[in-house]
Amino acid sequence: MMQNSKNSKIYLDYAATTPVDKEVLREMLPYFNKKFGNASSIHSFGQEAIAAIDGAREKIAKLLNCDFSEIIFTGSATEANNLAIKGLIQNFTISAVAKNVKYNNLQIISTNIEHESAHEPLRELEKAGHKITYLKVNKDGFISIADLEKNIKDNTVLVSIIYANNEIGTIQPIKEIGKLLEKINKKRLASLKRERSGQENGLSKIYFHTDAVQALNYLECRPDWLKIDLLTFSGHKIYGPKGIGGLYVRKNTPLSSIISGGGQEFGWRSGTENVPYIVGLAKAVEMVFKNREKLSKYVLDLRNKLWKNIIKYNKDAKLNGSFNSRLPNNLNIRFAGLSSETLIVALDQAGVAVSAGSACSGRALAASHVLKAIGLNSKQMKESIRITLGKNTTKNEIKKAAEIISALSKKLKL
Ligand code: PLP
Repeated sequence: MMQNSKNSKIYLDYAATTPVDKEVLREMLPYFNKKFGNASSIHSFGQEAIAAIDGAREKIAKLLNCDFSEIIFTGSATEANNLAIKGLIQNFTISAVAKNVKYNNLQIISTNIEHESAHEPLRELEKAGHKITYLKVNKDGFISIADLEKNIKDNTVLVSIIYANNEIGTIQPIKEIGKLLEKINKKRLASLKRERSGQENGLSKIYFHTDAVQALNYLECRPDWLKIDLLTFSGHKIYGPKGIGGLYVRKNTPLSSIISGGGQEFGWRSGTENVPYIVGLAKAVEMVFKNREKLSKYVLDLRNKLWKNIIKYNKDAKLNGSFNSRLPNNLNIRFAGLSSETLIVALDQAGVAVSAGSACSGRALAASHVLKAIGLNSKQMKESIRITLGKNTTKNEIKKAAEIISALSKKLKL
């Protein structure tokens, strides 16, 4: 697709982060020093800033086919996941005080392969007394819709399921889950209307959140199509800047802010808006929508070539997670008998950057809860590496990387 620079290092860790696209950077630059106003100021500098934010919001809303007021900018996808999960539950507990009803044991359904930024807020809510049901994935990395349906109770208020996993790239059936929840919500609303007395305590809807951080590059993410109420995305996974994220919030979704202050972002996320990053995020989303199909085919072809080459020379290399219904840029491979730490360091010295598990736990090389969830034991987890391609990956790099990976994985095993 795009030719890489003369840099001889081969970067194959696009799930950890992506470089800022040149076009994105160009749009961002004026907002650092020339157009530097604070969007809350009344004068023309402020007006210029708010116009840029409005323009960015409008752009993303159009692409996602939603309303301008349904897009919130946050400081990261981590924050967006926290806002979606804690903000929703907090809203119920706050309104419970006002209505004098008890909502201290709400049920949330999630999975055992969420990113830490969803998993940790869930654990905090669990400690606060809420019931969290973690659906198990099978050995291929997928939840079962029947299992989800079986676990839905009258006090279920939120379903939060990652769209595409950051470690093994497996794609959950978000659209099908959306359809199921829509059906259940219709029934729930009808029965609440029948029993007027139940209305006060009744939870009229199960809200549906997905973390689409890794999915946005490659998959359909329009909320209406997915039938989703809350959708998280991040700048730095889509060739935008780090430190900026976004949350789609469907109209009338009860959400409390988790950061209070000056009331920016419709009161949901206080703090002076990061105008250059917001502008950059919108440009990055625009480019995703323009190039998605082409990019998906491009990386899929290279990814498959790489995998073919790896298994040609390493008959015992195993893919973690399903080969099908997986992000087109992702490989998570186990080389039996070879420590991933040793391999990653050797690959880095040979100029190939890959990762072990997810980047967030990468520094400490903590055991991966995702690999554990698909049934790997601790030895197998320590033998696994993640390779993720991106739009700057070239055919030549893949050829070279395949040779280096094959040679090193054989050599280090001896
Ligand atoms: N969700 C997923 C699936 C991710 O892969 C990541 C980052 O690795 C995040 C959330 C957090 O994103 P951010 O770095 O913008 O906080």
